[in-house]
Amino acid sequence: MDFELNDDQRLFQRTLREFVEKDIVPVASEWERSGRYPAEIVERFRQMGLFGMTVPEEYGGLALDRVSFALVFEEIARGWMGVAGILGSHSLATWMIARHGTAEQRDHYLPDLATGARRTGIALTEPGAGTDLQGIRTRAVRDGDEYVIDGTKTWITNARHADPLPVLVKTSEETPAHRGMSVLLVDASSEGLTIGRDLPKLGYKGTETCEVVLTGVRVPVSRLLGGEEGRGMQQVLSALELGRINIAARAVGVAQCAFEAALGYSRQRQAFGQPIADFQAVQLKLADMATEIQAARLMTYWAAVRSEAGAVASEAAMAKYFASEVALKTTMEAMRIHGGYGYSQEFVVERLYRDAPLMAIGEGTNDVQRLVIARALIQGTATLGW
Ligand SMILES: Cc1cc2nc3c(=O)[nH]c(=O)nc-3n(C[C@H](O)[C@H](O)[C@H](O)COP(=O)(O)OP(=O)(O)OC[C@H]3O[C@@H](n4cnc5c(N)ncnc54)[C@H](O)[C@@H]3O)c2cc1C
Repeated sequence: MDFELNDDQRLFQRTLREFVEKDIVPVASEWERSGRYPAEIVERFRQMGLFGMTVPEEYGGLALDRVSFALVFEEIARGWMGVAGILGSHSLATWMIARHGTAEQRDHYLPDLATGARRTGIALTEPGAGTDLQGIRTRAVRDGDEYVIDGTKTWITNARHADPLPVLVKTSEETPAHRGMSVLLVDASSEGLTIGRDLPKLGYKGTETCEVVLTGVRVPVSRLLGGEEGRGMQQVLSALELGRINIAARAVGVAQCAFEAALGYSRQRQAFGQPIADFQAVQLKLADMATEIQAARLMTYWAAVRSEAGAVASEAAMAKYFASEVALKTTMEAMRIHGGYGYSQEFVVERLYRDAPLMAIGEGTNDVQRLVIARALIQGTATLGW
Protein backbone atom coordinates (compact mmCIF):
# COMPACT_ATOMS: atom_id res chain seq x y z
CA MET A 1 0.00 0.00 0.00
CA ASP A 2 1.44 3.33 -1.09
CA PHE A 3 0.20 6.53 0.54
CA GLU A 4 2.46 8.82 -1.51
CA LEU A 5 1.57 10.96 -4.49
CA ASN A 6 3.62 9.90 -7.50
CA ASP A 7 6.16 12.33 -9.02
CA ASP A 8 3.70 13.64 -11.63
CA GLN A 9 0.99 14.19 -9.05
CA ARG A 10 3.39 15.98 -6.71
CA LEU A 11 4.61 18.27 -9.48
CA PHE A 12 1.02 18.95 -10.51
CA GLN A 13 0.09 19.73 -6.91
CA ARG A 14 3.00 22.17 -6.65
CA THR A 15 1.99 23.88 -9.90
CA LEU A 16 -1.60 24.20 -8.68
CA ARG A 17 -0.51 25.53 -5.30
CA GLU A 18 1.71 28.19 -6.86
CA PHE A 19 -1.09 29.24 -9.20
CA VAL A 20 -3.59 29.48 -6.33
CA GLU A 21 -1.17 31.45 -4.13
CA LYS A 22 -0.38 33.89 -6.94
CA ASP A 23 -3.65 34.32 -8.82
CA ILE A 24 -6.48 33.39 -6.44
CA VAL A 25 -5.57 34.03 -2.80
CA PRO A 26 -4.73 37.75 -3.22
CA VAL A 27 -8.11 38.55 -4.84
CA ALA A 28 -10.51 35.99 -3.37
CA SER A 29 -11.94 37.92 -0.42
CA GLU A 30 -12.29 41.22 -2.26
CA TRP A 31 -13.83 39.74 -5.41
CA GLU A 32 -16.22 37.53 -3.48
CA ARG A 33 -17.44 40.50 -1.44
CA SER A 34 -17.89 42.73 -4.48
CA GLY A 35 -19.61 39.99 -6.52
CA ARG A 36 -17.18 40.55 -9.40
CA TYR A 37 -16.97 37.68 -11.92
CA PRO A 38 -13.49 36.15 -11.75
CA ALA A 39 -12.81 36.34 -15.51
CA GLU A 40 -9.03 36.46 -15.06
CA ILE A 41 -9.09 33.25 -13.01
CA VAL A 42 -11.24 31.56 -15.66
CA GLU A 43 -8.63 32.60 -18.24
CA ARG A 44 -5.88 31.00 -16.13
CA PHE A 45 -7.97 27.81 -15.85
CA ARG A 46 -8.10 27.86 -19.67
CA GLN A 47 -4.35 28.38 -20.03
CA MET A 48 -3.68 25.48 -17.65
CA GLY A 49 -6.00 23.18 -19.59
CA LEU A 50 -8.17 22.61 -16.53
CA PHE A 51 -11.44 22.71 -18.48
CA GLY A 52 -10.21 19.54 -20.16
CA MET A 53 -9.35 17.63 -16.99
CA THR A 54 -11.94 14.87 -17.61
CA VAL A 55 -11.73 14.99 -21.42
CA PRO A 56 -9.80 12.20 -23.18
CA GLU A 57 -6.49 13.22 -24.77
CA GLU A 58 -7.74 12.40 -28.27
CA TYR A 59 -10.13 15.36 -27.93
CA GLY A 60 -7.42 17.64 -26.57
CA GLY A 61 -8.12 17.06 -22.87
CA LEU A 62 -5.77 16.34 -19.97
CA ALA A 63 -7.52 13.07 -19.04
CA LEU A 64 -6.28 13.46 -15.47
CA ASP A 65 -6.02 10.48 -13.18
CA ARG A 66 -8.59 10.73 -10.40
CA VAL A 67 -6.17 11.68 -7.61
CA SER A 68 -4.92 14.58 -9.75
CA PHE A 69 -8.57 15.46 -10.39
CA ALA A 70 -9.10 15.61 -6.62
CA LEU A 71 -5.92 17.70 -6.20
CA VAL A 72 -7.32 20.34 -8.58
CA PHE A 73 -10.38 20.84 -6.40
CA GLU A 74 -8.54 20.60 -3.10
CA GLU A 75 -5.91 23.17 -4.05
CA ILE A 76 -8.32 25.63 -5.67
CA ALA A 77 -10.82 25.38 -2.80
CA ARG A 78 -7.96 26.08 -0.41
CA GLY A 79 -7.80 29.48 -2.09
CA TRP A 80 -11.47 30.07 -2.96
CA MET A 81 -14.11 27.36 -3.03
CA GLY A 82 -16.47 29.47 -5.16
CA VAL A 83 -14.21 29.47 -8.21
CA ALA A 84 -13.70 25.70 -7.89
CA GLY A 85 -17.41 25.56 -8.76
CA ILE A 86 -16.64 26.92 -12.23
CA LEU A 87 -14.69 23.72 -12.91
CA GLY A 88 -16.94 21.44 -10.83
CA SER A 89 -20.08 20.95 -12.87
CA HIS A 90 -18.11 21.56 -16.09
CA SER A 91 -15.85 18.59 -15.40
CA LEU A 92 -18.79 16.43 -14.35
CA ALA A 93 -20.71 17.23 -17.55
CA THR A 94 -17.70 16.83 -19.85
CA TRP A 95 -17.02 13.44 -18.28
CA MET A 96 -20.66 12.49 -18.87
CA ILE A 97 -20.48 13.50 -22.54
CA ALA A 98 -17.17 11.65 -23.01
CA ARG A 99 -18.48 8.54 -21.25
CA HIS A 100 -22.03 8.38 -22.55
CA GLY A 101 -22.14 10.59 -25.66
CA THR A 102 -22.37 9.32 -29.23
CA ALA A 103 -19.26 9.60 -31.44
CA GLU A 104 -20.86 12.60 -33.16
CA GLN A 105 -21.60 14.32 -29.81
CA ARG A 106 -18.06 13.72 -28.58
CA ASP A 107 -16.54 15.06 -31.81
CA HIS A 108 -18.84 18.06 -31.83
CA TYR A 109 -18.48 19.19 -28.22
CA LEU A 110 -15.40 17.79 -26.52
CA PRO A 111 -12.56 19.63 -28.34
CA ASP A 112 -14.06 23.03 -27.45
CA LEU A 113 -15.06 21.93 -23.95
CA ALA A 114 -11.48 20.74 -23.36
CA THR A 115 -9.99 24.15 -24.11
CA GLY A 116 -12.71 26.12 -22.34
CA ALA A 117 -13.79 27.73 -25.65
CA ARG A 118 -17.10 26.22 -24.67
CA ARG A 119 -18.13 25.70 -21.08
CA THR A 120 -20.86 23.67 -19.49
CA GLY A 121 -22.77 22.70 -16.34
CA ILE A 122 -25.62 20.36 -15.52
CA ALA A 123 -29.34 21.05 -15.05
CA LEU A 124 -31.05 18.46 -12.89
CA THR A 125 -32.75 20.25 -9.99
CA GLU A 126 -36.20 21.81 -10.29
CA PRO A 127 -38.22 23.98 -7.94
CA GLY A 128 -40.22 20.91 -6.91
CA ALA A 129 -37.57 18.19 -7.17
CA GLY A 130 -33.97 18.03 -5.98
CA THR A 131 -33.21 14.83 -4.12
CA ASP A 132 -36.22 13.22 -5.78
CA LEU A 133 -34.96 13.53 -9.35
CA GLN A 134 -37.54 11.03 -10.57
CA GLY A 135 -40.13 13.67 -9.63
CA ILE A 136 -38.92 16.23 -12.22
CA ARG A 137 -41.58 17.85 -14.38
CA THR A 138 -39.51 19.02 -17.33
CA ARG A 139 -40.81 17.19 -20.40
CA ALA A 140 -39.34 16.64 -23.87
CA VAL A 141 -41.82 15.58 -26.53
CA ARG A 142 -40.62 14.16 -29.83
CA ASP A 143 -41.74 16.11 -32.90
CA GLY A 144 -40.20 14.70 -36.08
CA ASP A 145 -36.43 15.12 -35.88
CA GLU A 146 -36.62 17.31 -32.81
CA TYR A 147 -37.53 17.27 -29.13
CA VAL A 148 -39.58 20.11 -27.71
CA ILE A 149 -38.67 20.86 -24.10
CA ASP A 150 -40.82 22.63 -21.51
CA GLY A 151 -39.93 23.04 -17.86
CA THR A 152 -38.05 24.97 -15.21
CA LYS A 153 -34.74 24.16 -13.57
CA THR A 154 -33.26 25.89 -10.55
CA TRP A 155 -29.94 26.20 -8.72
CA ILE A 156 -28.02 25.70 -11.97
CA THR A 157 -24.35 26.55 -11.53
CA ASN A 158 -22.52 28.00 -14.56
CA ALA A 159 -25.90 28.45 -16.32
CA ARG A 160 -24.92 31.76 -17.89
CA HIS A 161 -21.79 30.27 -19.42
CA ALA A 162 -23.02 26.78 -20.34
CA ASP A 163 -23.07 25.88 -24.03
CA PRO A 164 -24.31 23.20 -24.22
CA LEU A 165 -26.29 22.78 -21.01
CA PRO A 166 -27.13 19.10 -20.39
CA VAL A 167 -30.72 19.04 -19.14
CA LEU A 168 -32.41 16.09 -17.42
CA VAL A 169 -35.92 15.63 -18.88
CA LYS A 170 -38.70 13.11 -19.03
CA THR A 171 -39.12 11.67 -22.50
CA SER A 172 -41.87 9.26 -21.46
CA GLU A 173 -44.19 8.51 -18.56
CA GLU A 174 -42.90 4.96 -18.12
CA THR A 175 -42.74 3.48 -14.66
CA PRO A 176 -40.52 3.24 -12.79
CA ALA A 177 -39.93 6.88 -13.66
CA HIS A 178 -36.18 6.57 -14.25
CA ARG A 179 -36.89 4.49 -17.36
CA GLY A 180 -38.53 7.52 -18.94
CA MET A 181 -35.69 9.97 -18.24
CA SER A 182 -33.12 11.28 -20.69
CA VAL A 183 -30.45 13.97 -20.97
CA LEU A 184 -30.63 16.50 -23.81
CA LEU A 185 -27.70 18.75 -24.72
CA VAL A 186 -29.22 22.21 -25.13
CA ASP A 187 -27.17 24.84 -26.98
CA ALA A 188 -27.10 28.30 -25.40
CA SER A 189 -28.51 29.96 -28.52
CA SER A 190 -31.68 27.81 -28.45
CA GLU A 191 -34.84 29.85 -28.80
CA GLY A 192 -37.03 29.59 -25.69
CA LEU A 193 -34.10 29.04 -23.32
CA THR A 194 -34.03 31.73 -20.64
CA ILE A 195 -31.34 32.00 -17.99
CA GLY A 196 -33.19 33.74 -15.18
CA ARG A 197 -32.03 35.52 -12.09
CA ASP A 198 -28.88 34.70 -10.16
CA LEU A 199 -30.01 33.12 -6.91
CA PRO A 200 -28.76 35.00 -3.84
CA LYS A 201 -26.43 32.71 -1.88
CA LEU A 202 -24.82 32.51 1.55
CA GLY A 203 -21.44 31.67 0.02
CA TYR A 204 -20.17 29.91 -3.11
CA LYS A 205 -19.81 33.30 -4.76
CA GLY A 206 -17.67 33.73 -7.86
CA THR A 207 -19.80 31.40 -9.92
CA GLU A 208 -23.37 32.10 -10.89
CA THR A 209 -26.22 29.80 -9.84
CA CYS A 210 -29.43 30.53 -11.73
CA GLU A 211 -32.96 29.64 -12.59
CA VAL A 212 -33.35 28.23 -16.10
CA VAL A 213 -36.66 28.30 -17.96
CA LEU A 214 -37.25 26.20 -21.08
CA THR A 215 -40.30 27.17 -23.10
CA GLY A 216 -40.87 25.19 -26.27
CA VAL A 217 -37.11 24.75 -26.71
CA ARG A 218 -36.43 22.66 -29.83
CA VAL A 219 -33.33 20.50 -29.95
CA PRO A 220 -32.41 18.06 -32.71
CA VAL A 221 -32.82 14.37 -31.88
CA SER A 222 -29.05 14.09 -32.41
CA ARG A 223 -28.63 15.98 -29.09
CA LEU A 224 -30.12 13.12 -27.04
CA LEU A 225 -27.12 12.05 -24.91
CA GLY A 226 -26.02 8.59 -26.06
CA GLY A 227 -28.73 8.49 -28.73
CA GLU A 228 -31.08 6.31 -26.70
CA GLU A 229 -34.07 7.42 -24.63
CA GLY A 230 -34.44 6.28 -21.01
CA ARG A 231 -30.74 6.33 -20.10
CA GLY A 232 -30.69 9.77 -18.48
CA MET A 233 -30.97 8.83 -14.83
CA GLN A 234 -28.19 6.26 -15.10
CA GLN A 235 -25.96 8.71 -17.01
CA VAL A 236 -26.50 11.40 -14.41
CA LEU A 237 -25.98 9.12 -11.41
CA SER A 238 -22.68 7.86 -12.80
CA ALA A 239 -21.52 11.46 -13.28
CA LEU A 240 -22.60 12.39 -9.74
CA GLU A 241 -20.23 9.75 -8.36
CA LEU A 242 -17.36 11.72 -9.87
CA GLY A 243 -19.01 14.91 -8.66
CA ARG A 244 -18.94 13.61 -5.10
CA ILE A 245 -15.18 13.13 -5.27
CA ASN A 246 -14.88 16.72 -6.46
CA ILE A 247 -17.06 17.93 -3.57
CA ALA A 248 -15.10 15.87 -1.04
CA ALA A 249 -11.84 17.37 -2.35
CA ARG A 250 -13.26 20.89 -2.15
CA ALA A 251 -14.28 20.22 1.45
CA VAL A 252 -10.73 19.10 2.27
CA GLY A 253 -9.37 22.29 0.69
CA VAL A 254 -11.72 24.53 2.68
CA ALA A 255 -10.96 22.69 5.92
CA GLN A 256 -7.20 22.85 5.28
CA CYS A 257 -7.41 26.59 4.73
CA ALA A 258 -9.40 26.99 7.96
CA PHE A 259 -6.85 24.93 9.87
CA GLU A 260 -3.91 26.93 8.53
CA ALA A 261 -5.65 30.20 9.43
CA ALA A 262 -6.39 28.92 12.94
CA LEU A 263 -2.87 27.61 13.48
CA GLY A 264 -1.29 30.87 12.31
CA TYR A 265 -3.63 32.97 14.40
CA SER A 266 -3.14 30.88 17.54
CA ARG A 267 0.63 31.28 17.34
CA GLN A 268 0.41 35.02 17.01
CA ARG A 269 -2.56 36.03 19.19
CA GLN A 270 -1.57 36.79 22.77
CA ALA A 271 -3.77 36.37 25.84
CA PHE A 272 -2.71 36.34 29.48
CA GLY A 273 0.84 37.11 28.36
CA GLN A 274 1.28 34.13 26.04
CA PRO A 275 0.25 32.93 22.58
CA ILE A 276 -3.19 31.28 22.72
CA ALA A 277 -1.51 28.23 21.06
CA ASP A 278 0.00 27.57 24.49
CA PHE A 279 -3.45 26.89 25.98
CA GLN A 280 -4.32 23.23 26.00
CA ALA A 281 -7.95 23.93 25.02
CA VAL A 282 -6.73 25.52 21.78
CA GLN A 283 -4.20 22.72 21.21
CA LEU A 284 -6.95 20.09 21.50
CA LYS A 285 -8.98 21.88 18.86
CA LEU A 286 -5.97 22.08 16.52
CA ALA A 287 -5.20 18.39 17.02
CA ASP A 288 -8.80 17.36 16.32
CA MET A 289 -8.95 19.56 13.23
CA ALA A 290 -5.69 18.21 11.81
CA THR A 291 -6.61 14.59 12.48
CA GLU A 292 -10.04 14.87 10.92
CA ILE A 293 -8.78 16.78 7.87
CA GLN A 294 -6.12 14.17 7.24
CA ALA A 295 -8.72 11.37 7.54
CA ALA A 296 -11.01 13.24 5.10
CA ARG A 297 -8.12 13.68 2.67
CA LEU A 298 -7.22 9.98 2.81
CA MET A 299 -10.85 8.98 2.22
CA THR A 300 -11.05 11.34 -0.73
CA TYR A 301 -7.90 10.00 -2.38
CA TRP A 302 -9.06 6.44 -1.60
CA ALA A 303 -12.40 7.04 -3.34
CA ALA A 304 -10.54 8.71 -6.21
CA VAL A 305 -8.18 5.75 -6.69
CA ARG A 306 -11.03 3.25 -6.46
CA SER A 307 -13.07 5.19 -9.00
CA GLU A 308 -10.40 4.52 -11.65
CA ALA A 309 -11.54 0.91 -11.59
CA GLY A 310 -15.28 1.58 -11.93
CA ALA A 311 -18.37 2.46 -9.94
CA VAL A 312 -17.72 3.70 -6.41
CA ALA A 313 -21.16 4.63 -5.11
CA SER A 314 -20.43 3.99 -1.46
CA GLU A 315 -16.77 5.11 -1.47
CA ALA A 316 -17.63 8.44 -3.12
CA ALA A 317 -20.60 8.88 -0.78
CA MET A 318 -18.46 8.16 2.30
CA ALA A 319 -15.74 10.59 1.21
CA LYS A 320 -18.23 13.34 0.37
CA TYR A 321 -20.22 12.85 3.56
CA PHE A 322 -17.22 12.68 5.88
CA ALA A 323 -15.15 15.43 4.27
CA SER A 324 -18.04 17.89 4.14
CA GLU A 325 -18.90 17.31 7.81
CA VAL A 326 -15.22 17.87 8.64
CA ALA A 327 -15.31 21.13 6.67
CA LEU A 328 -18.38 22.28 8.59
CA LYS A 329 -16.84 21.45 11.94
CA THR A 330 -13.37 22.75 11.13
CA THR A 331 -14.55 26.12 9.86
CA MET A 332 -16.59 26.57 13.03
CA GLU A 333 -13.63 25.62 15.22
CA ALA A 334 -11.35 27.95 13.28
CA MET A 335 -13.84 30.73 13.90
CA ARG A 336 -13.88 29.96 17.63
CA ILE A 337 -10.06 30.07 17.76
CA HIS A 338 -10.17 33.52 16.14
CA GLY A 339 -12.51 34.79 18.85
CA GLY A 340 -14.32 37.97 17.77
CA TYR A 341 -12.04 38.39 14.74
CA GLY A 342 -13.42 35.16 13.29
CA TYR A 343 -16.70 36.98 12.89
CA SER A 344 -15.05 39.76 10.93
CA GLN A 345 -15.13 39.94 7.16
CA GLU A 346 -11.49 40.96 7.35
CA PHE A 347 -10.42 37.40 8.23
CA VAL A 348 -10.70 34.48 5.83
CA VAL A 349 -12.48 32.15 8.27
CA GLU A 350 -15.71 34.11 7.86
CA ARG A 351 -15.81 33.20 4.12
CA LEU A 352 -14.81 29.60 4.78
CA TYR A 353 -17.62 29.30 7.32
CA ARG A 354 -20.12 30.49 4.69
CA ASP A 355 -18.70 28.26 1.93
CA ALA A 356 -18.57 25.02 3.91
CA PRO A 357 -22.32 24.16 4.13
CA LEU A 358 -22.70 23.82 0.35
CA MET A 359 -20.56 20.70 0.41
CA ALA A 360 -23.10 19.07 2.71
CA ILE A 361 -25.87 19.83 0.17
CA GLY A 362 -24.45 19.67 -3.36
CA GLU A 363 -24.22 16.42 -5.37
CA GLY A 364 -26.81 14.95 -3.00
CA THR A 365 -27.38 15.97 0.62
CA ASN A 366 -25.41 14.19 3.32
CA ASP A 367 -28.48 12.34 4.54
CA VAL A 368 -28.83 10.96 1.03
CA GLN A 369 -25.14 9.92 1.09
CA ARG A 370 -25.81 8.02 4.31
CA LEU A 371 -28.72 6.24 2.65
CA VAL A 372 -26.53 5.35 -0.35
CA ILE A 373 -23.89 3.91 1.99
CA ALA A 374 -26.43 1.97 4.05
CA ARG A 375 -28.16 0.57 0.95
CA ALA A 376 -24.86 -0.63 -0.51
CA LEU A 377 -23.94 -2.32 2.77
CA ILE A 378 -27.34 -3.99 3.13
CA GLN A 379 -27.36 -5.16 -0.50
CA GLY A 380 -23.81 -6.45 -0.10
CA THR A 381 -22.39 -4.34 -2.94
CA ALA A 382 -20.07 -2.60 -0.47
CA THR A 383 -17.92 -4.07 2.25
CA LEU A 384 -15.69 -2.42 4.78
CA GLY A 385 -11.95 -2.80 4.84
CA TRP A 386 -9.79 -4.72 2.42
C1 LIG B 1 -25.31 26.77 -4.45
C2 LIG B 1 -25.98 25.59 -5.09
C3 LIG B 1 -25.57 25.17 -6.35
C4 LIG B 1 -26.24 24.11 -6.99
N1 LIG B 1 -25.87 23.76 -8.27
C5 LIG B 1 -26.62 22.84 -8.93
C6 LIG B 1 -26.38 22.56 -10.33
O1 LIG B 1 -25.45 23.08 -10.94
N2 LIG B 1 -27.21 21.70 -10.96
C7 LIG B 1 -28.25 21.09 -10.33
O2 LIG B 1 -28.97 20.34 -10.97
N3 LIG B 1 -28.50 21.32 -9.01
C8 LIG B 1 -27.72 22.18 -8.31
N4 LIG B 1 -27.97 22.45 -6.98
C9 LIG B 1 -29.10 21.79 -6.34
C10 LIG B 1 -28.70 20.72 -5.34
O3 LIG B 1 -28.18 19.61 -6.01
C11 LIG B 1 -29.95 20.40 -4.51
O4 LIG B 1 -30.20 21.53 -3.69
C12 LIG B 1 -29.78 19.17 -3.65
O5 LIG B 1 -29.71 18.02 -4.46
C13 LIG B 1 -30.97 19.00 -2.67
O6 LIG B 1 -32.18 19.14 -3.31
P1 LIG B 1 -33.29 20.15 -2.75
O7 LIG B 1 -32.64 21.45 -2.53
O8 LIG B 1 -34.47 20.10 -3.66
O9 LIG B 1 -33.68 19.57 -1.33
P2 LIG B 1 -34.79 18.45 -1.01
O10 LIG B 1 -34.63 17.33 -1.96
O11 LIG B 1 -36.11 19.11 -0.95
O12 LIG B 1 -34.34 18.00 0.43
C14 LIG B 1 -34.73 18.71 1.62
C15 LIG B 1 -34.35 17.86 2.83
O13 LIG B 1 -35.04 16.61 2.78
C16 LIG B 1 -34.13 15.53 2.87
N5 LIG B 1 -34.59 14.41 2.05
C17 LIG B 1 -35.14 14.44 0.81
N6 LIG B 1 -35.40 13.20 0.39
C18 LIG B 1 -35.03 12.36 1.37
C19 LIG B 1 -35.05 10.95 1.54
N7 LIG B 1 -35.50 10.12 0.59
N8 LIG B 1 -34.60 10.44 2.70
C20 LIG B 1 -34.11 11.25 3.67
N9 LIG B 1 -34.06 12.58 3.57
C21 LIG B 1 -34.50 13.13 2.43
C22 LIG B 1 -32.81 16.09 2.32
O14 LIG B 1 -31.69 15.36 2.82
C23 LIG B 1 -32.85 17.52 2.84
O15 LIG B 1 -32.40 17.54 4.17
C24 LIG B 1 -27.29 23.45 -6.32
C25 LIG B 1 -27.65 23.85 -5.02
C26 LIG B 1 -27.02 24.90 -4.41
C27 LIG B 1 -27.46 25.34 -3.05
